Amino acid sequence: MYTLNPPTRILMGPGPSDVHPQVLKAMATPLIGHLDPKFLEIMNEVMDLLRATFQTDNKLTVAMSGTGSAGMETVFVNLVEPGDKVVIGVNGLFGERMVDVAERCGAEVIRVEAPWGEIIEPDAIEKVLKANTNIKLVAIVHAETSTGALQPLAEISRVVHEHEALFVVDAVTSLGGIEVGIDKHQVDACYSGTQKCISAPPGLSPVTFSPRALAVMSKRKSKVQSWYLDLSMIQNYWGKERFYHHTAPITMSYAIREALRLVVQEEGLQQTFKRHWTLGQSLQKGLVAMGLTLHVKEGQRLPQLTSVLIPEGVDDLAVRKSLLEQFGLEIGGGLGQLKGKVWRIGLMGHSCQPRNVVLFLTALEQLLTLQGAKIERGAAVAAAMKAMGQEEASILPKV
Ligand code: PLP
Repeated sequence: MYTLNPPTRILMGPGPSDVHPQVLKAMATPLIGHLDPKFLEIMNEVMDLLRATFQTDNKLTVAMSGTGSAGMETVFVNLVEPGDKVVIGVNGLFGERMVDVAERCGAEVIRVEAPWGEIIEPDAIEKVLKANTNIKLVAIVHAETSTGALQPLAEISRVVHEHEALFVVDAVTSLGGIEVGIDKHQVDACYSGTQKCISAPPGLSPVTFSPRALAVMSKRKSKVQSWYLDLSMIQNYWGKERFYHHTAPITMSYAIREALRLVVQEEGLQQTFKRHWTLGQSLQKGLVAMGLTLHVKEGQRLPQLTSVLIPEGVDDLAVRKSLLEQFGLEIGGGLGQLKGKVWRIGLMGHSCQPRNVVLFLTALEQLLTLQGAKIERGAAVAAAMKAMGQEEASILPKV
């Protein structure tokens, strides 16, 4: 068998995104035991860095073993008991997944739906909370990766707490890219992933729980249905007791520690948000200048994930194949009801760089021209550079 040698790509899809070279370097350092005092120190540092990234003082803030979906399951298996009523906002694939997970925990799920690409309106949540009693939690997706919609949190949080329910947020695609603000928005339980705006590989799922959520968990009548994700045991490993639960993914712990250090300490959270915002705007302005239509309306768009309609008559797969094979660029296709209708372009974490915006717009323009699409030629890069605060396309700005 040949030596493993995967091609070098630029990952501009919905995740995973490019891993920062310093994270890769950290992953190549020697393995130590998961109860080694040095590793326990690293775990403490991960918890501190996660609190800074989530913008919270929550004591229970840890990285679960597994991808973002493991974080989703962690939240639901620990908070929900059979027969509990939960409200879930469904405006894309990941809201749908939360419904599936909650139902598997025996929850009675009340769906609040919006068309894919739109946001969940606080009024719609309030209507359901007024019409029902004993709602245990309300869950929404902050950054719906299947559509590119950015869900505002503040107003829904207010309504949820007015009705004394817990507020659950999926921040898989938002953490490290845009402000999540756990304490500011009084989020009670939140989960994320390492492979999007954090710039580490997939494999860990940061989670955080408020004191309110802890109080609810402590009053459970039934055992948590998942042994692996039971936080009452996981807490004893991350806490002072350091009881063995399962063998921690050591190398991934190195990865998240270094990735979070880069976000929190080296670049700084506010600057990271600014970089995502500026380059997201720049990409979107470039696509519009090319004559393309964005799927999500202005004011509700994520900067780190843009969905754009595939122009009439253009071969979706052929364009994505050429981007990958000729330019080494990966973008995503549409999921579910958007399959074949949109492309999803990610600018997450280390992939979120000015040169990637320029390369992608240039490559797309060439490929769409070859496909005979009616586009505005030569306008996209200029518009993108202007949005970066750069009139001349000769120098790429540092943002
Ligand atoms: N939630 C959102 C918003 C996501 O984008 C994803 C993955 O793309 C998930 C949950 C699931 O995460 P994972 O694929 O890492 O299990």
